[in-house]
Formats: sequence, C-alpha cells, structure tokens
Amino acid sequence: MPSPHSTTMLYGIFGYPIGHSLSPLMHNTAFTYHGMDAVYLPFAVHPTQVEDAVKAIAALHIQGVNVTIPHKQAVMPWLDTLSPEASLIGAVNTIHLQDGRLHGHNTDGIGFLRSLEEAGGEVAGRTVLLVGAGGAARAVAVQLCLSGIHRLYLTNRTPTRAEELATFLKQHLPHTDTSVVAMDVSSLAASLSDTDIIVNATAIGMHPDDPMVLPIAALHSQHLVCDIVYRPLQTVLLRTAQQQGARVVDGLGMLLHQGAKAFEIWTGQSFPMPLIRARLLDALAEQPIAGRPPAQE
Ligand code: NAP
Repeated sequence: MPSPHSTTMLYGIFGYPIGHSLSPLMHNTAFTYHGMDAVYLPFAVHPTQVEDAVKAIAALHIQGVNVTIPHKQAVMPWLDTLSPEASLIGAVNTIHLQDGRLHGHNTDGIGFLRSLEEAGGEVAGRTVLLVGAGGAARAVAVQLCLSGIHRLYLTNRTPTRAEELATFLKQHLPHTDTSVVAMDVSSLAASLSDTDIIVNATAIGMHPDDPMVLPIAALHSQHLVCDIVYRPLQTVLLRTAQQQGARVVDGLGMLLHQGAKAFEIWTGQSFPMPLIRARLLDALAEQPIAGRPPAQE
C-alpha cells in the first residue's frame, strides 16, 4: 500500500511576528543545494495558539521547526524531551519530530561558539565579559561555561538579572571550573584589562543614539570583541573595537551556525556555508538599517 504521506518534507519556524525571518532563506537554500524534496515555511503563531501549533507538528508530519521570539520558552511544556543544553538554557529554538515524538534543542549557544572558533577565538581558559542577561546571553553564558572558560564576568543594565544568571550558572554548572562574577557596569573598566573576549548579547548598539553598554575607551588591541547583533560590522561597539585594533566578530556567524546545527539535527547534512553566507549578506543588504533589526532568530 502506498504511503499516505507526501514525499515533500515540511519544515518551518514559529514566531510572532515572523515576516522578516532569514531562516527560510537559509534552510531552503540548503535543501536546494542538497537536492532534497523539502520546504521550510515561516508560521506566524499567535501567543495564544502556541499549544495548538506545537501539537500540529506531529499531526501534520512537520519534520523540524525552529522557534523564535516570543515562543522559545512557551513551546517547552508541549515537548516530549529536552536536550541538556535546552534544559540548562531554559529555551528551545529547534524542535525535531522523530518517531512521533517532539524533541527540543537549543542551538544558539553552540552557534555562538562555532562562530567564535571560526574567527580564530579559542575560549578554553579565557576570561570573558558578557553584557546582557536576556535569552541570548543565557545561551552564550551556558555554552561558555560548558566550554571551559576560566572566568565569566556578567553585567547588565538591570543588575539583578546579571546576579540571577550568575547564581543560576553556579548552581547548575557546579562541575565546570569557570568562576562567574556579576558586576555593575560602573566597575567594568578595571576588569576589561584582564578580559580576553568581550561579548555584547544585547540588542543595543545599532543606532548612533543608543547608550554604550561598555566603557569603550578601555577597549584595546588584545581584545576579541563579539556583538551578536547579526548585521555585519555595523554596531558602534564593533566599529570602535576595530578602530582600537581589536579583532571583531559579528552575529552573522552565530545566525548561520545555529541554523546549521538545527539542519544537522534534522537531516544529518551540513549547511553549504559560503553559499548561505552570501545569500544572507545579499538579503541583509536589502533590509533597511534604520529601525531595529527586523528579525530575531
Ligand atoms: P532579550 O531576552 O529581550 O534581552 C535583551 C537584553 O538587552 C537584556 O539584557 C536587556 O537588559 C538588554 N537591553 C535592552 N535594552 C537595553 C538598553 N537600552 N540599554 C542596555 N541594555 C539593554 O533579547 P535576546 O533574545 O537576548 O536578544 C538580544 C540580541 O541578540 C538581539 O539583538 C537579537 O537579535 C540578538 N540575537 C542574535 C542571534 C544570532 O544568531 N546572531 C541569536 C539570538 C539573539 P535588561 O535586562 O536590563 O532589560
């Protein structure tokens, strides 16, 4: 008896809003490259319909789904399993349907790490200053601790959130050797002198009138400075760091590598990186710079 299913595999992304997401471009390019009969669609899932949408994944035989703002936590109660990273980060950005069960993963942290390594940034044994305490900062912080950094300085506009993240990391990752220190923004300048890698994991910096998240006068040429906003090299922080002679990494690599890891989980195949990077750069060149970055993956 023939299979009742279509031969075309279905994938997608849940978010709200979702119109400007770059994920369909990345994954559809990869499917075409590999000659796969598959399609990836954006789904605008209203916050009141997250449960229905997640349950529809199995009902509609959607093989894989990315999840973006504001649903990364909201999908979790409806999944069958969570990867260790998703569980620690407390958010899911990738769902995989396997044997009728829904498995939740988080590829943001590993995407960040791979992008740093691609840029020549070795993290083991290093001291890292991380600005931000939101969802992306949490993914980056967990991954850095799992990757054996020596010390993690955490700072945030709302200091209590940095303190809460530091407490969480100490409680949940007690077997790493990383010392985690929450700091007030006003006392950052001194710690920058013994910091190797600086990461901005806030959305701040795209606009000339944005507040500075760091005392940028203390940046120097030995720093590796990362800004996870993925518009290439356009934040004030990265421009200033470059002027000081520091090495810089923008968020495009994290966007690419979190997508690549999701694609690996779903298909066992790799992203054609140079091709997808070129397509992303073309798409970003067509998006207006004024206004906040339109899509968060
Ligand atoms: P989020 O959970 O809303 O967290 C926002 C963070 O930014 C918080 O730490 C917040 O501080 C801080 N912040 C907001 N406004 C600020 C201001 N005026 N001054 C100083 N700090 C401010 O957002 P998220 O999901 O973590 O995303 C953060 C950024 O990462 C976004 O730009 C997103 O596009 C980017 N991102 C990139 C990738 C990638 O693949 N490249 C992946 C994920 C996210 P408070 O705690 O004080 O509010």
